[in-house]
Amino acid sequence: MYFDSTYLILLPAILFALWAQSRVKSTYAKYSKAFAGLTGEEAARMVLEMNGVNDVTIEPIAGELTDHFDPKTNTIRLSKGVYNVTSVAAVGIAAHEAGHAVQYAVGYSPIKLRTAIIPVTNIGSTLSWPLLLIGVLLGNQTLAMAGVLLFCAVVVFQLVTLPVEFNASNRALDTLGASGYLQPEQLDGAGKVLRAAAMTYVAALAQALAQLLRLLMIANRSRRD
Ligand SMILES: [Zn+2]
Repeated sequence: MYFDSTYLILLPAILFALWAQSRVKSTYAKYSKAFAGLTGEEAARMVLEMNGVNDVTIEPIAGELTDHFDPKTNTIRLSKGVYNVTSVAAVGIAAHEAGHAVQYAVGYSPIKLRTAIIPVTNIGSTLSWPLLLIGVLLGNQTLAMAGVLLFCAVVVFQLVTLPVEFNASNRALDTLGASGYLQPEQLDGAGKVLRAAAMTYVAALAQALAQLLRLLMIANRSRRD
């Protein structure tokens, strides 16, 4: 029964995440209609070149807002609304992904740490609930707390994601600003798109923290019972 009531702890973070998600959609829609003088692909290429990175492939990918940088193949993949599109949103998003490629090229530590802890994070998110529930069922506090501890890996991952994302956006906006290609209001629009996207990562951290609190409460209940 207490599994249900602890669920309420998640509600504020879930509402925050839904709000952040809808803000990304509306900001993206707004600045997809604002013209920029170059395509997403050109913007990404320019950010790479201005940062002295010349070995990254840029290719299109299906879907909306599926843009990402793949460090394994050193490839930036841009969605159909970005790759060949001359909008402020497209330029901002493409430049951000190029920012991630630059992070790898210059050996920016947080992104290396983030990549390195992905296996631990996967183990943590897979095993934390089973361990906690078995611990609670057996009345074994150590096992339950081990489940909580494993979930901390997820929180750490979301925490490390924040500087990585903010830094990629800063590199993107600094380079776009220095390029002189964008008007001040276009640069401002690109910044708004990237800040809205960054808020979804803040929301993900809030969700992870709320989930950690919930796991702790469940583990503690098992001690009292
Ligand atoms: Zn990013």
